[in-house]
Amino acid sequence: MKSMAAYNGREIPKEDKVFAACQKANDAISRYGKADVINATVGALYDDEGELVVFKSVDKVMRSLEPKDYAAYGPIAGTPGFRDAVMKAAFGSYEPKSFTCVVATPGGTAAVRNAIVNYSCPGDRILTHSWHWAPYKSIAADMYRSIEHFEMFDEEGRFNTADFDYKVKKLIRNQEHLVVVLNTPACNPTGYSLSMDDWYAVKKTLDEVPLEKKVALVLDTAYIDYAGNPEEVREFLPVIDNLRANILPIIAYSASKTFTLYGARCAAMICLAHSPEVAEEFGMVNSFSSRAAWSNPPRAPQEVIERIYSDESLLAEVEAERAEARNMLLDRGRAFEEEAAKCGLKTVPFTAGFFVMVPCDDPDKLLDKLSEKNVFLMPFDDGVRVSVAAISEAKCRKLPEIIRSAMEELD
Ligand code: PLP
Repeated sequence: MKSMAAYNGREIPKEDKVFAACQKANDAISRYGKADVINATVGALYDDEGELVVFKSVDKVMRSLEPKDYAAYGPIAGTPGFRDAVMKAAFGSYEPKSFTCVVATPGGTAAVRNAIVNYSCPGDRILTHSWHWAPYKSIAADMYRSIEHFEMFDEEGRFNTADFDYKVKKLIRNQEHLVVVLNTPACNPTGYSLSMDDWYAVKKTLDEVPLEKKVALVLDTAYIDYAGNPEEVREFLPVIDNLRANILPIIAYSASKTFTLYGARCAAMICLAHSPEVAEEFGMVNSFSSRAAWSNPPRAPQEVIERIYSDESLLAEVEAERAEARNMLLDRGRAFEEEAAKCGLKTVPFTAGFFVMVPCDDPDKLLDKLSEKNVFLMPFDDGVRVSVAAISEAKCRKLPEIIRSAMEELD
């Protein structure tokens, strides 16, 4: 007997490429030491000494929790205090006009999963951009859906609104429901943020969807709080707060990066519905899915976030630490881009965030060559991803030329 699992048509790879890339980097670090290795594989923020950034203010609250704050079961849709607090975190000073409903989830991953389960049918295609976070494909496959993508950029490097329009219209000809996932601002893996013009074009396409077809627009905002000025990166909110009744915007807002709570598993899905009925239904269907998949989400991080938002000085401390981390990250991204331009290394259009993407024909070969130089990056289908979040600004400055020369050696 070699297999007991029911694969049900899902393609389940034997080796996880992400895990393999991290493993190789860690092996090199134990052999040569942190200073001589560039490990830009990891999707979490590290300081210049290679230590995970954990906000002291958040840590302080976590450590002050009483047993009942983390041990007791919490409500399936999240604690009332967390649900209020996360609205403030997600929207900042913007006040939504639509009918909102919040469902807490164990991570943004779970918010994307619930949205796909409840707003598409088995067999449907889920639309996202060509450069996208690989788990979208796994989540869709695990739910017996698949991914269709639109080309993210046109030949001039602009967000490809024409292909977005074409793919939306193509899919809704054959499907009653369509889930569209847009990862912005500061997309993983490209670092691109949709501009206001991009947003107006997205709105125009969605305005043209026939009213009998239903579209859930899932905005994966996992990196929003590292994408630039907190007010400016939220300027698109009025656009999604003013769509037609057959379009349901859902924000997947994660605490993983925003509060440095990656492993605590905390996020929220928030809808901007046209009617109270649709908002209420959102709470009902997503709570049902949560109950079936993980029951209630972890209580400790919800308690932490509630306390942060009920104490002005604590919130100010968290925001100050985040601003410092964000500035460090923005400097690293700029440093990488500057050096890439100087040495002629091509990157996919980048705005801000944890990652920069370098397109190439044979990512596996390039990564092998780079590993000889103790440089470790993440493979994608058409390129390699550099986590500027994981390496110092000095390493960000050195890396473009190392990648460029490795590419040249392969030619
Ligand atoms: N979306 C994107 C694009 C991500 O890169 C991540 C994390 O890496 C997530 C969502 C979800 O993260 P989490 O489930 O930790 O909130």
